[in-house]
Amino acid sequence: MTEKISLAKETKHILQENGIILNKNLGQNYLIDDFKRKKIIEYAKLTKKDTVLEIGPGIGTLTIELAKKAGKVIAIEQDPTIFNILKKRLEKEQIDNVELINGDAVKVDFPDFNKIVSNLPYQISSPISFKFLKHDFDLAILMYQKEFADRMNGKVGTKQYSRLSAMLYFKADVKFLTKVSPESFIPSPKVDSSVVELKPKESKIADDDYKIYSKVVKALFQHRNKKARNALIDSRHIIGFKDKKELKSILNNLEDGNPRIKELLLERTINLSPENIMELSILLKEHIN
Ligand code: SAH
Repeated sequence: MTEKISLAKETKHILQENGIILNKNLGQNYLIDDFKRKKIIEYAKLTKKDTVLEIGPGIGTLTIELAKKAGKVIAIEQDPTIFNILKKRLEKEQIDNVELINGDAVKVDFPDFNKIVSNLPYQISSPISFKFLKHDFDLAILMYQKEFADRMNGKVGTKQYSRLSAMLYFKADVKFLTKVSPESFIPSPKVDSSVVELKPKESKIADDDYKIYSKVVKALFQHRNKKARNALIDSRHIIGFKDKKELKSILNNLEDGNPRIKELLLERTINLSPENIMELSILLKEHIN
């Protein structure tokens, strides 16, 4: 019987054998915690009907386990050296249901998939998450830097409530699953990590409304402690105004005609819920471009 070697030993061995020194700038922190790996795979509830997208497979720590359970895995790895190591490893293990793509996941087109499972390179957390949400899928199990995951799920009025929380609110349900500590990776990052579940919302809001909402959110969260009215005036360029006086006079007129606008504009950004901001966006719609 062959002795089962630990994931940590196996990972170090593969890296050493190939003379790899991991590159922090590429977010290369490789999972060496077998228990957390099992949890991540379990959370994804895979069947042979699933096609899984994985961003940043590295040397295949998650990929190989995903391939055993899913019908197909599409894995996008940017680093060509790591890509080649994984390619050879899959060949050696005779795993033939993985489509490997060498490229920048933020830029390449995604083939069809219905689930996503990734220990993400943290430097692309924001653009890759918004890219995911442009696609339809059933479920995503994703590892992020803990602070980022907290902001994804930030509740109104708290320190974590942010542009990111407001932007995700109408697109997906975000659920915290488990924390992962720095020792679970090589090299150890300086930060804690969190695994979260992301599920696209069933009811979608109109693209036009979301576009306006995005601008208002961006403008407001540049001044999270200011009253909405002042935040919008200070960030007027984001909502298409050059002239301060012009925006002020529009806001004055709107406030005179509609007490609800006045009420919303008097609140501080961090106390406006996503619904409040959406309401404000729709009330301001015809003036924003
Ligand atoms: N999933 C592996 C590796 C995680 S580290 C594990 O859990 O051990 C993140 C991986 O993403 C690295 O291999 C890094 O090279 C890769 N990567 C970094 N930026 C990328 C990008 N823009 N597109 C695709 N892969 C990227």
